[in-house]
Amino acid sequence: MTEPDGRTLGDEEVAAAQRVIRSGMLNSVWGTEARALERAMSELYGSGHAIACSSGTAALHLAVVAAAPDPGDEVITTPITDFGTVAPILAQNAVPVFADVDPSDGNLDPAAVARLIGPRTRAILAVHLFGASARIAELRALAADRGLALIEDCAQAWLTTTPGGEPVGRNGLVGCFSLQQWKHITCGDGGLVITDDDEAARRMRLFADKGWDRAAGRSHVGLGLNYRMTELSAAVAGAQLAKLPGVVAARRRTAEALVEALRGLPGVVLPRVTGHAWWLFPLILPGGGAPALAARLREAGIPATAGYLEQPLNHAPVWDGPLYGTSRYPLTGTGSPGDASCPHAERLVSDTLLVVNWNENYTDEHVKAVAGALTDALSDAQPGERGPIA
Ligand SMILES: *Cc1c(COP(=O)(O)O)cnc(C)c1O
Repeated sequence: MTEPDGRTLGDEEVAAAQRVIRSGMLNSVWGTEARALERAMSELYGSGHAIACSSGTAALHLAVVAAAPDPGDEVITTPITDFGTVAPILAQNAVPVFADVDPSDGNLDPAAVARLIGPRTRAILAVHLFGASARIAELRALAADRGLALIEDCAQAWLTTTPGGEPVGRNGLVGCFSLQQWKHITCGDGGLVITDDDEAARRMRLFADKGWDRAAGRSHVGLGLNYRMTELSAAVAGAQLAKLPGVVAARRRTAEALVEALRGLPGVVLPRVTGHAWWLFPLILPGGGAPALAARLREAGIPATAGYLEQPLNHAPVWDGPLYGTSRYPLTGTGSPGDASCPHAERLVSDTLLVVNWNENYTDEHVKAVAGALTDALSDAQPGERGPIA
């Protein structure tokens, strides 16, 4: 993802960037590119609104703003995600509460979420990890039943669909997307939110533009930051968005071929293919040993890592120190997110989760190489054997 051959940036993006530079207008307040990107995104997803912003983290911040927690309110989310899911909760002075995950795919366990809903819970923030749909129908029903906002983090899940075939990002109040370098499509850094809720869209648009109600002159109606996407980014993102269906289709073809090649291999749980967008290719080793397997695969030239994170986010060092100045606000008076008990997440990250980098430009030869290396490594281990595989 850091090499030209691993991305789909080509003549279309060059032309888009050139068009913007020649126009003399690089700012989306007065330009046309970001608005065109928003139209293309709302058409692609069938959403009432789409708003471009400066990053996936900014998109998630806008979504938390739309959910409007009071300071000290709680947002339930997963400990296996990018920190960009969690930082916006803190930035709105709300408290992240980590729920444990489903050990079969690392996505939020709706029953664990339900157990944590309390009087201060305001929203559920679900992540579709690695491109696999979270159990979003159950989370949606839970949110509706308890009067909570549901936010979907689709940064890794462009064009992911639910088992019922519905696109993820359309199940709650806001769906959030990232255009960072490592995502399915990229403009370096960028984000998009989609929503059908007019009031949520108004709040998010204002927050992304310093609370500036441009129709009312130089007038500020609320707190906001500058999360605007630039015209250069938007033009490149627009060209990338047109390539997205091809990117996802290519990833699906090769990832599904790998799943077929690995079927019947002892000691691994294969990912469910339905609706998966394959940001990464995840494997679960119920008997453990993912770190040793990842090391062995890397020796064979396969870009594999164990655990995805150094530690699940409930164990991140951030909870040990102050958050604002010398203060731990908004955590004062409540338990720390670091106190959360998420045994499934902890075991996945330390022992059972293996991810292989995936890419739209992989060929059948790449699939064969990954399948061969995995088969060699796993066949050497006794079925069900615990501990190091190498
Ligand atoms: C990448 C990512 C983010 C943050 O997006 P940025 O564009 O890097 O700010 C948030 N959540 C998930 C799940 C991500 O993968």
